[in-house]
Amino acid sequence: MSADIIDGKAFAATIRAKVAAHVARLKVDYEITPGLAVILVGEDPASQVYVRNKGKQTLEVGMNSYEHKLPADTSQEKLLALIADLNADPAVHGILCQLPVPDHIDEATVINAIAPEKDVDGFHISNVGLLATGQKAMVPCTPLGCLMMLRERHGDLSGLEAVVVGRSNIVGKPMAQLLLRDSCTVTIAHSRTRDIQEVCKRADILVAAVGRPEMITGDWVKPGATVIDVGINRIPAPEKGEGKMRLVGDVDFDSASKVAGAITPVPGGVGPMTIAVLLANTLTACCRANDLPEPEGLTA
Ligand code: NDP
Repeated sequence: MSADIIDGKAFAATIRAKVAAHVARLKVDYEITPGLAVILVGEDPASQVYVRNKGKQTLEVGMNSYEHKLPADTSQEKLLALIADLNADPAVHGILCQLPVPDHIDEATVINAIAPEKDVDGFHISNVGLLATGQKAMVPCTPLGCLMMLRERHGDLSGLEAVVVGRSNIVGKPMAQLLLRDSCTVTIAHSRTRDIQEVCKRADILVAAVGRPEMITGDWVKPGATVIDVGINRIPAPEKGEGKMRLVGDVDFDSASKVAGAITPVPGGVGPMTIAVLLANTLTACCRANDLPEPEGLTA
């Protein structure tokens, strides 16, 4: 048996197309254009690539993009002043501060300075609480993207056994909350979990968000399960030449895809969904700010 491959690149394109169509309607019907502000402090090369891609895709779906690139020695006070300005700016519906921030800036202070209704990353403490209590929240992009893929695959998730490996604030915990909200029976596994292989083997839905290359092999997977691999790990690829690297997930794709019913590849699975969902969240924030109906199928 060979698993169906869940094509995140294609699915992300359908999300972006839905967002673009809704943005076009907002412009015609209400003369409103959603706006996303992205702040980057410092010159981390990976962060620069992410921010460039976010800006490009924001413009492609017809939204306004506001990029604020600040030098690495920017004071926390100055960063907080910029966030306060963006919070007050009615043209800005979503604000994202690219993480990590330099060491002299306190990450939690920055995240919690963003107005919760503009917190399109869903990391603000209010949004964490709203999600945990089943209220209307801004939901972190990567787990929301995983949820969308799971709903597309299964329709109703109710009653399914879900295991999330990883308990980070940005992936594992919100993923578990979302699955619980969709009435799965949810287990969160982590580095201290006993008999983790047996725990994973119970899962109809197995989400791996660990950061350990190819840790989860086929003999951890229940036959027919849906496996969502969030991991992005760079490992040496001597077959490509000296010093070359390649990307792998937290799941050993070759063995797991022989057992699973469906699986996301790395690259091309969860990765492309994250920015698409960021755009969806910005659209949702804009609709909420203007008391307009939220886009269907793009929220939790
Ligand atoms: P963190 O490092 O914050 O969390 C990793 C989690 O995995 C922790 O809860 C840790 O447990 C658990 N863990 C570590 N080792 C083991 C082990 N041997 N057995 C079981 N559990 C283990 O990572 P993130 O959640 O931020 O990211 C996870 C992965 O997802 C990374 O590869 C990251 O690059 C990727 N990622 C991809 C995104 C995307 O596709 N857009 C977005 C965000 C992340 P404990 O708490 O006990 O230490």
